[in-house]
Amino acid sequence: MEKSPSPSGKLWLVGAGPGDPDLLTLRAARLLESADLVVHDGLVGEGVLALIPAHIERISVAKQRSRHTMKQELINELLVRETLAGKQVVRLKGGDPFIFGRGGEELDAAREAGIACEVVPGITAAAGCAAQAGLPLTHREDASAVSFVAGQCKDLTDQDWSGLAGHGRTLVIYMGLATAHAITDKLIADGVSPGLPVAVVERGTTKDARVLRTLLTDLGDLVAREKVASPALIIVGKVAARADALDCLGAPGVANNLKDIACES
Ligand code: SAH
Repeated sequence: MEKSPSPSGKLWLVGAGPGDPDLLTLRAARLLESADLVVHDGLVGEGVLALIPAHIERISVAKQRSRHTMKQELINELLVRETLAGKQVVRLKGGDPFIFGRGGEELDAAREAGIACEVVPGITAAAGCAAQAGLPLTHREDASAVSFVAGQCKDLTDQDWSGLAGHGRTLVIYMGLATAHAITDKLIADGVSPGLPVAVVERGTTKDARVLRTLLTDLGDLVAREKVASPALIIVGKVAARADALDCLGAPGVANNLKDIACES
């Protein structure tokens, strides 16, 4: 049977990793060189964008604060339209496309439109930041479970925080800066020890990275005190005590109070 010529356009949902271009996969690096069009968001680091050859068309759909430069539906439409036009389209996203990256929605749009779509995983912020901080997310002695949670999603109130942090567990919070106080209150109300160590990794894997540590009860204040800026990741659990971090326990009075709190939950 004669095959009809394939339209040849294809969409690639590609993880760019957490910032350092050396953390791209070989497949991602190869696709950046062979694409017709790269559609990227704001989290993708300059170093990664610099790998895209100048002749390749590039569109930024970066979000600015809460204002979306381009709504998700419009991004989906753009990806589908350009792929149907026969292009090799790389949708480049920070970290991994399927971890809080809305890659699932873009894949749905591609399936609905009947276009070929392939996902290229990337190193998610949790893995990149943990590596940089020397902070094992699991450890035989400290944690046999790890959860990735969005601190800021459609309805924070809908998120059930119970059982996510505490003994034997590591909780990794993405997009949690603005809600750090509220998250702390919810976790403590759920019985998590206020004295559990917490690490905050700002701009992980970049040369400007900061790794700060305190105890859970001080998390919201630490974020404000140290003016922690996005992107930053919050890691709650005993493993945070193992990080190469700057201890920032707050004012001396606070630090003394915190010392009395047992680091168990
Ligand atoms: N798909 C991405 C996550 C997108 S959500 C991934 O897999 O990593 C955006 C959030 O990711 C940020 O608010 C921040 O919490 C986290 N993040 C992304 N890159 C980061 C980095 N280099 N350092 C610290 N946190 C980062």
